[in-house]
Amino acid sequence: MKAPASTRAALVAWYDAEKRSLPWRETRDPYAIWVSEIMLQQTRVDTVIPYFERFLERFPSPRALAEASEDEVLGAWSGLGYYRRARWLHAGVREVVARYGGEVPEDPEARRALPGVGRYTAGAIGSIAFGKAEPVVDGNVARVLARLHGIATPLGRADTERALWSRAEALVEGPRPGDLNQAVMELGATVCSPRAPRCEACPVASECVARRDGRTAELPAPKARKKPVDAPRVAVVATRRGAVALVKRDGPLFGGLWELPLAEGAGRTAAREALREAGVSARIGEEPVAALEHVLSHRRLLVEVWRATAAKAPDARWVEPAELGEVGTSTLTRRCVEQALGAA
Ligand code: SF4
Repeated sequence: MKAPASTRAALVAWYDAEKRSLPWRETRDPYAIWVSEIMLQQTRVDTVIPYFERFLERFPSPRALAEASEDEVLGAWSGLGYYRRARWLHAGVREVVARYGGEVPEDPEARRALPGVGRYTAGAIGSIAFGKAEPVVDGNVARVLARLHGIATPLGRADTERALWSRAEALVEGPRPGDLNQAVMELGATVCSPRAPRCEACPVASECVARRDGRTAELPAPKARKKPVDAPRVAVVATRRGAVALVKRDGPLFGGLWELPLAEGAGRTAAREALREAGVSARIGEEPVAALEHVLSHRRLLVEVWRATAAKAPDARWVEPAELGEVGTSTLTRRCVEQALGAA
């Protein structure tokens, strides 16, 4: 089922006139589109722009990225957060080089089978770079479509997802699928905002169910959210001649990044445990030097920051505080170092 041609035409005309100029809109290179889409997941456009430009300058092709080490990739991603995205992108690109000679595949099934490429990312690359009628549904698109068609079931539920994808599929059938998808994304980002949508500026206002029924504040119905769980942690800023000891972490939390010794719990015993686990020996202070809160998607870390000196650690990487930005490290580590060395 195709959406009415008038709806599609109104969206594309509005996009032509109103779209923001963004660096990833200057290209149809599927690799560049892929990088931008991964960076834009959970991160604001303004934040992404300089990262996107630097990343492509440093890794201009799938081959260049595939040949880089994980450390280099995480270093370039440093500060963007959600590092799993960078690892997936790296893995996906390595597969593109190994299996497809470094060319992002045009075939939708092959694209979707790449590590870290879900239906949304595959659809964005397919429609924008290859001009294929492949749908996309992200948060912005879901909001527009739920309001436009009066889809009232909560986001995240299987029936809602089915309804949204089927509406998106119907909409993208026809000419200029990439621009059509981007029009809906842009509309969600700039006009059909979560609070106070600017319906008077909307190209599809005359057919919008939520607007007609006065339900823009209710739709889309939010996902049932779990509250983030509080998780006490200690982090130790251990130094030697002014340089900070960082160790490579395994596991889901900051895995693969260069991080401070970190352990569950609170107090000096937990701080000692953090050093021990990280293979660092050092003279630890009597009291924590700072406490901070760090919110992740599902956990609120309550972090006690400890200071230790005269550190020795055979496997550590020693980093000057001013150079932390060049290493693949989390924002949490940077915040802890700032607090500890400011407080020392
Ligand atoms: S009319 Fe308003 S609520 Fe409906 S799609 Fe447009 S901006 Fe969103």
